[in-house]
Amino acid sequence: MEEKLFLIKLGEISLKGLNRPLFEKRLKNNIKLRLRPYYSRIKKEKGRLYLYCTDCPDSLIISVLSTTFGVVAFSKSYVTDKNWDSIVNEVNNVISYAPFDNGIGTFKVISKRADKNFMYNSYKISCELGGVILDKYPNMKVKLDNPEKTLNIEIRDKAYIYTSDLSGPSGLPCGVSGKGLLLLSGGIDSPVAGYLMSSRGMKIDCIYFHAYPYTSEQALTKVEHLAEILAKWNCGISLNVVNFTKAELWIKDHSSESEHTLMMRASMIKVSTELAKKINAKALITGESLAQVASQTLDSISFTNSMTDLPVFRPLIGHDKDFIIDIAKKMGTYETSILPYDDCCTIFSPKHPLLNPDTMIESDSFQKMNIQSILDECLDSIQTKYYSW
Ligand code: ATP
Ligand code: MG
Repeated sequence: MEEKLFLIKLGEISLKGLNRPLFEKRLKNNIKLRLRPYYSRIKKEKGRLYLYCTDCPDSLIISVLSTTFGVVAFSKSYVTDKNWDSIVNEVNNVISYAPFDNGIGTFKVISKRADKNFMYNSYKISCELGGVILDKYPNMKVKLDNPEKTLNIEIRDKAYIYTSDLSGPSGLPCGVSGKGLLLLSGGIDSPVAGYLMSSRGMKIDCIYFHAYPYTSEQALTKVEHLAEILAKWNCGISLNVVNFTKAELWIKDHSSESEHTLMMRASMIKVSTELAKKINAKALITGESLAQVASQTLDSISFTNSMTDLPVFRPLIGHDKDFIIDIAKKMGTYETSILPYDDCCTIFSPKHPLLNPDTMIESDSFQKMNIQSILDECLDSIQTKYYSW
């Protein structure tokens, strides 16, 4: 079987200074791991990676590259000798496939000549190859500004020919920014928060607080499905499911109704902090967005922050629901998130939650609940499932 080549364009990674080799190495490893069990090799050059593989299906390569953070754009490339007849032959071959094969529409040829000794300059290469395309498809039209199709050629050690780029998700490769623990609920927001932190190179593991039978088995299945989708954007994901029922009931019986949500948040943050330390995660991540609900006011957030000594990342803090929904649709979690199974927070929500809690007073209420031994039991109850990417 013939070896195929995909050209991968890098963005932000190429701007990194001394750390660049580390970032590139991580991205190479992530791509190779995701293509397993197929063998692949990756060569790097300034701002580019060249991915070679033989028996791996194109559909798998395309699905991996379009979901691997660090990849800005990619295209299947055809390589030939830097001899004009071979180039013309290969261009005729490339344009017999999509997107050129229907022979209609507008196009332009983009040429780059890294090898300045090549017989033609970039302008001449573009003109000549434009002629080749028009000879084969006389109904096509050249359009330099915003054409429907492009044919790219780069003259380097060899001639690389490819058509329009496909998009990758950009960002930084998973794993270059340490590990964070995402508080994953069944809603729209928290999966998006996980996606955004992953896009900055953070490896994510998840924790979910399940209050069976107040929250149904279906609610857990929904969260498992969300974790499975998130795993694709990450380097695989562990989902830690906490049995939270006893804690919920204790809070209900040992705090005033208006404090329930706050006490529950505080308990979740306490358990999450302990788990994070166990699994070497150095930050907590939540899907909170300022003022979206009562527990997400500035004062409520200050209170929950006081319950942990880890940084709490809230990548959605300044975003509205439309922005969040757009990302949920793009990353593939939206349809699952809107399934109608109640989360534990909704079931135990007070009618009139405190909007502007005082951190000192609420910390005191939390102490008085005397809930620590129950939170220790929660930590011991954790069951972990792993989803590979
Ligand atoms: P989401 O859409 O992510 O559920 P939300 O708008 O419903 O968020 P809240 O219910 O107030 O907001 O939850 C705020 C954040 O707390 C969530 O984004 C999530 O990070 C965390 N969280 C809430 N419930 C749970 C749960 N049962 N397990 C784990 N984390 C949770
Ligand atoms: Mg929720």
